[in-house]
Amino acid sequence: MGNAGAPGKTAKKPASAKPSKAASTLAAGLEKLGLRRPLDFALHLPLRYEDQTRITLLSDAPAAGPALFAVRVRNVTVAFRPRRQLLVQVEDDSGRANCRFLNFYGSQTKQFERARDEGLTLHAWGELRSGYLGPELVHPTISKPSEADSSEAPADTLTPQYPTTAGVSQTQLRQRIGKVLKDLALAETLPRNDNTSDDTSDHTLHLPPLNEALQFLHAPPPDVDVGALNARSHPAWQRVCLEELVAQQLSLRKARLARRQKGAPVLRGNGSLTNALLKRLPFALTKAQERAYGEICADLNESHPMQRLLQGDVGSGKTIVAALAACQAIEAGYQVAFMAPTELLAEQHYNKLIEWLEPLGIRIAWLSGSQKKSERTAQLSAAATDAQLIVGTHALIEDTVDFSKLGLVIIDEQHRFGVAQRLALRQKGNNPHQLMMSATPIPRTLAMSYFADLDCSVIDELPPGRTPIRTRLIADTRRDEVILAIRNALAAGEQCYWVCPLIEESETVELQTAIDTHALLSDALPEYRVGLVHGRLKADEKATTMRAFADGEVQLLVATTVIEVGVDVPNASLMVIEHAERFGLAQLHQLRGRVGRGQRESSCILMFGQSLGLPLSQTAKERLRIIYENTDGFAIAQADLQLRGPGELIGKRQSGVPMLRYAELERDADLIPAAQQIADQMLREARHTQSDLTEVHMDRWFGHAEGFLKT
Ligand code: ADP
Ligand code: MG
Repeated sequence: MGNAGAPGKTAKKPASAKPSKAASTLAAGLEKLGLRRPLDFALHLPLRYEDQTRITLLSDAPAAGPALFAVRVRNVTVAFRPRRQLLVQVEDDSGRANCRFLNFYGSQTKQFERARDEGLTLHAWGELRSGYLGPELVHPTISKPSEADSSEAPADTLTPQYPTTAGVSQTQLRQRIGKVLKDLALAETLPRNDNTSDDTSDHTLHLPPLNEALQFLHAPPPDVDVGALNARSHPAWQRVCLEELVAQQLSLRKARLARRQKGAPVLRGNGSLTNALLKRLPFALTKAQERAYGEICADLNESHPMQRLLQGDVGSGKTIVAALAACQAIEAGYQVAFMAPTELLAEQHYNKLIEWLEPLGIRIAWLSGSQKKSERTAQLSAAATDAQLIVGTHALIEDTVDFSKLGLVIIDEQHRFGVAQRLALRQKGNNPHQLMMSATPIPRTLAMSYFADLDCSVIDELPPGRTPIRTRLIADTRRDEVILAIRNALAAGEQCYWVCPLIEESETVELQTAIDTHALLSDALPEYRVGLVHGRLKADEKATTMRAFADGEVQLLVATTVIEVGVDVPNASLMVIEHAERFGLAQLHQLRGRVGRGQRESSCILMFGQSLGLPLSQTAKERLRIIYENTDGFAIAQADLQLRGPGELIGKRQSGVPMLRYAELERDADLIPAAQQIADQMLREARHTQSDLTEVHMDRWFGHAEGFLKT
């Protein structure tokens, strides 16, 4: 809030203020807020509103939230209770209250005293709460009404509170925006029949026209429900959110259309490799896997590049589907690049693919950052000549890597890669097809918005015979019992993971904790082999330990979160996650998915911090509750979206997709289908008319942000 403090504080600035400096901070601030074009000001909408259109009696103060009071000063004291503070006792015809200021200037004290002596009425804006000395207003905003209207409210519209930045006051924003609004006449860009209130078609939303909605939102009349307005459920807000969602759909559709114009190699296989692979597998594909592969297979037969996201919960069997796609591309005479975000995961894929594909005579190359120079040279030359499948990490996108005939790009854990990285891999070929995999299921609303430019296949079924994982929550004060549970599991021939806490502030501490835990568990369980993997190990050291664990030579694996993604050891049936409250939901779900991969009854122990006596935060409790109650990754992702918003789930992809400023996927889920229809209609109409409203619309809503979808 701009004018906190005492009466007179809102008075005009002294004439000596340096205008040049103030003006330049203002200009910089506006620039930072993305406010350049008049349009940007019109679309800079309030975060919330305050109702200063009526004066409330102290005795009628709302149970919660601020109100405007018109008061006279009775008493002014500077008290020490225990901190030095200014206490101003005020009254109106209904009662009394104390205004309390912890930080104040001597001049404020004087101004209140003058108001007392002159019997002035002041306006105080704040939340009335019951305090030690009775009802009180802590740090209210005080203003001095002009003599005439002290009993009248100062505002005749609700007062918008705008998002702002240092150097730009609410008043300045209000003035500038007000000026723009005076002669605002934005042409409607959405087709009339879909959004105006005189429409009679089925999907009528009964929303006001854009200009009207904007005028309303910048200056809502006093009779509007502030609650509905702040909750953005008001039709004027819905109109804005719809506009924004349409802009998003347009940009996604355009990206997709642009891709369809490109020619890609037609990867029509003859089935020789795919059939041979299916025959060799010790299991049959699930229905869901078959369907997903069917969709991919059809895409690869097309002459424009596939851009498909393969989603499936942890352990649903995405890798084999990717391997089948690879076989099809290889049958068609093309190369396949398979990229994973970590060395550990890439190596695991490499091993699996060797096991499945080498017997079919497929030549596989391996590229990783930690490779020896001589080996790397050999693998590079294989990639540039006769290798058919090239597996690796980010090393695949380096300049030195050349492919001879890249037809398909497979990217595991796609959210770990940025737009630029995925693009770089694609550019190694001539518009190759792209298959992305995600083990973090994407909630429906997110899939319909941020991911709408991608085709999506979902594996919504786990392979048969999996036993559900039992999840237990245990305080870390019961560590001994947990170690006993491990001992029992090991004695029964099972294997266990122990995941050390994530320590965001310090990688060194994280590492030390892992080393200490490893020592402690090795001591406690001397008859078993305890392995250790963490981020600082060299790739081959990590791989050696992982292999020993996979082969059962190591029975207990202590790890930092490096094991988070993709590790597949079916004999592991118990996982302990220490300080589980520090992990995100998606991460916990991923980690837990490392067990329950075989036939054994599996369990996951979530140890939460209690030994330090600190209470868990509300979000931490909420996360643990969600992970405890749910085993379905989609349900968990949905909860995560509600808890954290879309940012985390979109991952690095967001650098290519403009973020939504006003629309919220969950709240505005109902608007998304409408936005899709409208976007389709606009694109259809743009083909038949001279003026392309789609560009105007996208520029209007996203013009301030840099860059649209580039992938
Ligand atoms: P994710 O989807 O998490 O990447 P994976 O591809 O690693 O899962 O598969 C998990 C495990 O399930 C692997 O051991 C894999 O061989 C096995 N698997 C995959 N599909 C099937 C199936 N249809 N029947 C039985 N086991 C399967
Ligand atoms: Mg996987």
